[in-house]
Amino acid sequence: MNNELEKYGKLKENVDLKKYNTYKVSSTTKYLIEVKDEENLLNLINYLNDNDINYYVLGNGSNVVLPKNDFNGVIIKLNEFNNIDIDDDEVYVGAGVMLPKLVNETVNNCLKGLEWASGIPGTLGGAVVGNAGAYLSEIFDFIISVRVLDNGVIKELKKSDIKYSYRYTSLKGQRNIIVLGATLRLEKGNSDESLSLMRNRMERRLESQPLDYPNAGSVFRNPENDYAGRLIEECGLKGKTVGGAMVSTKHANFIINYDNASGDDVKKLIKLVHDEVLNKTGVDLIIEQELIDWR
Ligand SMILES: Cc1cc2nc3c(=O)[nH]c(=O)nc-3n(C[C@H](O)[C@H](O)[C@H](O)COP(=O)(O)OP(=O)(O)OC[C@H]3O[C@@H](n4cnc5c(N)ncnc54)[C@H](O)[C@@H]3O)c2cc1C
Repeated sequence: MNNELEKYGKLKENVDLKKYNTYKVSSTTKYLIEVKDEENLLNLINYLNDNDINYYVLGNGSNVVLPKNDFNGVIIKLNEFNNIDIDDDEVYVGAGVMLPKLVNETVNNCLKGLEWASGIPGTLGGAVVGNAGAYLSEIFDFIISVRVLDNGVIKELKKSDIKYSYRYTSLKGQRNIIVLGATLRLEKGNSDESLSLMRNRMERRLESQPLDYPNAGSVFRNPENDYAGRLIEECGLKGKTVGGAMVSTKHANFIINYDNASGDDVKKLIKLVHDEVLNKTGVDLIIEQELIDWR
């Protein structure tokens, strides 16, 4: 099948996904393809569906826990979907654009609103699917429409067509829907003020998050009127390990890969933390990261 796949983009075979996920855990995929453009993506998906071949769209892998076992399918990367088209206060952003790059570009064009996203190491596609956010803002505050490939058809979904809430959208887990890009509305701003806000946000992240170890951001969503990190710390779980995975001693809602952890170590530790917090406090924490199970 590989000759066929080469038509649609840059193809790699037997790839260790370690450098494609921010936990830096290993999982080998039979194929990884960086698709050229929308037309090639459409044809690729048709080909994969017609031939019953499994596929998975990966953004920057900063919100997923990959399994240890191999994937006998195709990982689809959309890093070539990297356009940022600014028209007054409206911005069309391709799904593969990294959020820090988007923030820099919009701030340089005197547009404000996205400063909160400057420290989030994910793509626009991943941010839209999970409604990424920070400091009381979220990507859906700015969305006008989302361009998707839905069951072989390219569509422009209006914001009102999509259900969304805190770190959730109805696009999540819908393997037949691929986000191609989104149109955002921002506000006219002042670059210096935005840069100062970004610096302030970054300092807060550096102070509170274990950014010197591989991780995938917050593990659990914050329950209403409380913090997952506070509950985990209260249960004495800071520093708890499974294999090479550890509950960060700096921020209890982060798990770090401190010594060659596998995705299965991370998953087991997440379950241990969840169950311990439930037993000790009665709070049923909801996971924010996605535990992948290759199908
Ligand atoms: C240090 C650190 C700090 C973080 N801080 C924050 C934060 O403050 N706020 C926050 O919300 N998150 C945070 N995160 C988590 C993460 O960066 C975000 O959730 C980000 O939006 C995920 O994007 P991604 O491209 O990495 O998605 P991935 O992890 O690659 O994918 C996540 C899910 O989206 C799907 N997906 C990705 N792209 C597409 C697409 N184009 N079409 C369809 N499905 C797609 C994947 O299949 C997967 O199901 C942090 C992570 C790290 C490592």
